[in-house]
Amino acid sequence: MIQMNNVVKKYPNGVVAANGITVDIKPGEFVYVVGPSGAGKSTFIKLMYREEKQTSGDVIIAGTNLATLKNRQVPQFRRQLGVVFQDFKLLPRLNVYENVAFALEVIEEHPKMIRKRVMEVLELVGLKHKVRMFPSELSGGEQQRVSIARSIVNRPKVVIADEPTGNLDPETSWEIMNIFEEINTRGTTIVMATHNREIVNTIRRRVITIEGGMIVRDVYGGDYGYEG
Ligand code: ADP
Ligand code: ADP
Repeated sequence: MIQMNNVVKKYPNGVVAANGITVDIKPGEFVYVVGPSGAGKSTFIKLMYREEKQTSGDVIIAGTNLATLKNRQVPQFRRQLGVVFQDFKLLPRLNVYENVAFALEVIEEHPKMIRKRVMEVLELVGLKHKVRMFPSELSGGEQQRVSIARSIVNRPKVVIADEPTGNLDPETSWEIMNIFEEINTRGTTIVMATHNREIVNTIRRRVITIEGGMIVRDVYGGDYGYEG
């Protein structure tokens, strides 16, 4: 589902944030990406959804080789992925329903189908009763639920999450993790960068550790591993 082969990312300022990354993530896996600040976790994740383009090496996501992807093909490529951020990135002037429906409206799905699907994913994240509320009226945990609903509304094969619990209290973080677990159980591949040691050590999954732009450890059912 996700393959990288000897991937290097050198930013224009000379920082090498990915320094020869080779990895293979199979369909249906749930993978944590851990490592110290500045290790290259976000870069690793941004390379997957073409927020950043690799300097060299191959990145192949759900059968698409990103090295040969044209800029005009990027929006279509991204529709196969769900992306969840630490700071939610909801559209402030749209209500919950509209934030989630947006992704289906741009691909001109049938209105009836949009309504059915939006309500289905809002039910899954437990927010069906708040469809008319605006992001500013919601708690952080609720906003993250909306952003997760938005990320899966297109039925992506992969959901990529960068520190999705980073702004949330411990109890809310566990609730959010339960939703990711449910999504994974239904067959979606999940890649999640996180600093949450307790979660990684409790919900045991594959753990990829990045340091200095390199994968220094890759263990199925592993623990958080490093101090700090
Ligand atoms: P992490 O997510 O593990 O904190 P990042 O991938 O954000 O790591 O950053 C890895 C390295 O790349 C850091 O040294 C960071 O300063 C640098 N970096 C990240 N983004 C950019 C950018 N857009 N331009 C230049 N350097 C960057
Ligand atoms: P189908 O539409 O084939 O009956 P589902 O609605 O259960 O099956 O899931 C299909 C796709 O929807 C998944 O492969 C995935 O991309 C996306 N999806 C992921 N998690 C969920 C979820 N928890 N609820 C609904 N759709 C999800």
